[in-house]
Amino acid sequence: MHDTHHIHPENDAQYAGLVVNSGVAQPPSVNPYASRRPKRKPLPSAGELVEGILRGDVTMLSRAVTLVESLSPTHQAVAQEVIEKCLPYSGRSRRIGITGVPGAGKSTSIDVFGLHVLKRGGKLAVLAIDPSSERTKGSILGDKTRMEKLSQHPGAFIRPSPSAGSLGGVARKTRETIVLCEAAGYDNIFVETVGVGQSETAVHSMVDFFLLIQLAGTGDELQGIKRGIMEMADGIVINKADGDNVGPAQLAQAQFRSALHLFPPTASGWKPEVLTYSGYFELGIPEVWDMIDRYFAFTEANGYFTHKRREQARWWMRESIDEALRGNFYNNPEVERMLAGLETEVLADRRSSFTAARDVLDYYFSSLREK
Ligand code: GDP
Repeated sequence: MHDTHHIHPENDAQYAGLVVNSGVAQPPSVNPYASRRPKRKPLPSAGELVEGILRGDVTMLSRAVTLVESLSPTHQAVAQEVIEKCLPYSGRSRRIGITGVPGAGKSTSIDVFGLHVLKRGGKLAVLAIDPSSERTKGSILGDKTRMEKLSQHPGAFIRPSPSAGSLGGVARKTRETIVLCEAAGYDNIFVETVGVGQSETAVHSMVDFFLLIQLAGTGDELQGIKRGIMEMADGIVINKADGDNVGPAQLAQAQFRSALHLFPPTASGWKPEVLTYSGYFELGIPEVWDMIDRYFAFTEANGYFTHKRREQARWWMRESIDEALRGNFYNNPEVERMLAGLETEVLADRRSSFTAARDVLDYYFSSLREK
């Protein structure tokens, strides 16, 4: 600005005696130093994390889980080293999957089941698989308040689902988190999932016992959509068997029992049981847990427990290979470019799906050979 003295209206003759000077340049409203990231706590080394985890240090465990969930390659490298080193200390827990549609009473039930388990001593980790969940939408707080009593228990470690991503990715992170929790001495692991989709299969592949929470009178007791999930269940429990709902719950129990008779025998030789209980009024909880204890005794005695864990380890190895291969293929820039073009041609009926697929695979495999 040049001569502000003349331009400013208050420097007009009628305001004689008053001189308004041009202002002083304002400092920026944001402190330039503040924009520098505040110093983060340095990333602990894999060795430090492992040492902390084995000591049962919850902060170190949480930090390691955060690295497992991180997409950053640096974090992933540390995470994989930590998992590798924790593996020899893992495996000594009871892994229990818990599923049910929203509103079935999963959080209420996990709260009381959890406290029941902890009464015997030991520690409990509650993990979740919910590919639709997003951290930022308050699921951390949500989960804390959802399991109010449990979250205040010193022996409980509650971790919400890794944030939204592919089901395979989310499930793998939960699977890896189980390893870390076990190394930290958690001898009970609950994995919760919303009983509406594919996530049950993923949970089934990482737990020893699969508990299905159902409700009476929702009309879907015997419907096909639940069939797949019902077939996976080692126990079906009908919640909210309290007040006027006791009768309907017992009716549902009878229906489930007869429906289960129609299913082929399970690989474990265990006959899935159907019980009623009330999570809210804490009725029938020990009975549910007796069933789970009996299952573990039964499958440990007939060798199925070990067999299933081995099968799951194999499954996860295959799953990890699948995921890595797919990632390598689809992240190849030339593949991505070719796919876009070929897709247009296929959609326009100018190319068959098969020759298009063959071309892009031919390119991919030859690019591997050149390396
Ligand atoms: P989630 O969505 O499966 O986690 O279900 P919640 O645990 O949030 O429970 C859903 C609703 O059902 C809540 O309003 C609970 O208070 C209620 N609820 C849960 N368990 C019981 C129970 O045993 N009896 C009754 N009457 N209500 C229950």
